[in-house]
Amino acid sequence: MDADLEHLLFIYALQNAVKHNSAPKSGAVIGTVLGKHPEFRSRVREIGPLAGKVVAKVAAMDGPERKSLLEEIAPELLDELTETREHSRELPALLGAENGVVMRFAPNPSGPLHLGHARASILNDYYVRRYGGRYVLRIEDTDPRRVDPEAYEMVLEDIEWMGLGITDIVYQSDRLDVYYDWCRKLIELGGAYVCVCEAERFRDLKLKKKACPCRDRPVEENLELWQRMLDGEFYEGDATVRVKTDLDHPDPAMRDYSAMRIVNTPIHPRVDATVFPLMNFSVAVDDHLLGITHVIRGKDHIANTGRQRYIFDYFGWKPPVYYHYGRMGISGVVLSTSSMREGIRSGVYTGWDDVHLGTLRAIARRGIEPEAVRNAMVDIGMGETDITFSWENLYARNKELVDPKANRYFFVPDPVEVVVEGAPRHEAHAALHPNDPSRGVRTLVTAGAVLLPKADIEGRSMVRLKDLYNVRIAWDGDLPRVSYAGESLEDARREKAPIIQWLPVDAKLPCTLHTQDGDVEGFCEPLVTGEVESVVQFERVGFARVDSVTDGRVDAFLAHR
Ligand code: GLU
Repeated sequence: MDADLEHLLFIYALQNAVKHNSAPKSGAVIGTVLGKHPEFRSRVREIGPLAGKVVAKVAAMDGPERKSLLEEIAPELLDELTETREHSRELPALLGAENGVVMRFAPNPSGPLHLGHARASILNDYYVRRYGGRYVLRIEDTDPRRVDPEAYEMVLEDIEWMGLGITDIVYQSDRLDVYYDWCRKLIELGGAYVCVCEAERFRDLKLKKKACPCRDRPVEENLELWQRMLDGEFYEGDATVRVKTDLDHPDPAMRDYSAMRIVNTPIHPRVDATVFPLMNFSVAVDDHLLGITHVIRGKDHIANTGRQRYIFDYFGWKPPVYYHYGRMGISGVVLSTSSMREGIRSGVYTGWDDVHLGTLRAIARRGIEPEAVRNAMVDIGMGETDITFSWENLYARNKELVDPKANRYFFVPDPVEVVVEGAPRHEAHAALHPNDPSRGVRTLVTAGAVLLPKADIEGRSMVRLKDLYNVRIAWDGDLPRVSYAGESLEDARREKAPIIQWLPVDAKLPCTLHTQDGDVEGFCEPLVTGEVESVVQFERVGFARVDSVTDGRVDAFLAHR
């Protein structure tokens, strides 16, 4: 019997871990097992320790190991996971993708990933999953000024959280010699030249559609200058390699753009170099060398696509198929890496996961699940029209996922303490989940001294305390005098009494609910301490992720209503 229960917990722990691509959550595993196998409800006491044991076992495995084991011992549970994925809507086909694709996600390690990155990475991921193939993570770290050494790790964590199916990882800073090589070849072809003009001077000429004196220098001299750049004979800003484009191009920014430059400071955290490719050059070279077949990126890269095509043309390479989706405005959160960093430094934000930021870690902290982000991004798709990101849709997608799992508890914000006159001692049994009786109940006992949410009783003459009884309220100025008014639901209905949450004064924990509009102080049920890192529903308040419990104080973050 024990073996059966342990096995069940084990396979659901595996399923939970594979689903979220992280260590399994014991609460969720227990919930699922008891939901599907009510026959074990009577053994609820044994389940906790057993679940702890299997969760630790699964937590020690890595992603692929969990998946293959689940496939072997409970393939139907693995199928369940892919079935839910397929509920997402179908995006348009990619041109020429029938035989598989090679795609890439190419973030700069300048900070953790945010919702903007989520769109790019999830859309590419979606198509790699759909057509099969490879998904390259390319860390674009060739601008020493925009590299945050800590971001390398954060980017990987965020990718893991999103559950992207990355197959290869490439660091551009490991490939400087590759870019140097192709730069030399481009110079040899007459497709690039070393420009030693002052930036101002070049700009003036460019705006007048005029060539700078360096443009017509013979290849041999350019190669020499290029070697001198590599040898460190020039200082930052003194020399740059330019791609010969079209001086008559209507967009001045397309005219003879820079492919290589010197950066003396800051020093790159990974490589000892002073010559670095600019994005368009390294992106074009890598997209070709890595065999990228399709590129999905934002419209803000359209001009870059134009620049990169020159490189493909010079070398006679076949470019990938490009798609550019429209801009996505995201309101209510900070997304600019520099503003975030500055705010963290000055103490305005608590860290990269502050709830006011649009980073994935901030969203995760609030209890938004990666699958909700994925579904919301697939809903948005890759239309060219500019749109505003819908938080409502993200919340709706998250609610679909957390509502069935989240246990219910009372949280009383901004409480008033009252004694209900004439109240009998009463035991309330409130369901942990209204649609899943198998999870059982929370038992709240009171002889009449309770906490009530101030805002919900103000101006009221009667309220019903959920799962308890009705109370009548008489107002003595600002002071409520509360008395017992029976248990009849009928009475409550007739008097249009709202049903509100409450807590026994002698069984409660202080709880801070962190929201984007500020912290809400209140109290919650002591059982909430068993829900750390899970999402719960604070009845009538909203879904919240229980972040931590410190010295008997609970910190929770509001996800959404
Ligand atoms: N690293 C660049 C970015 O994150 C390039 C992306 C791309 O070429 O799609 O904006």
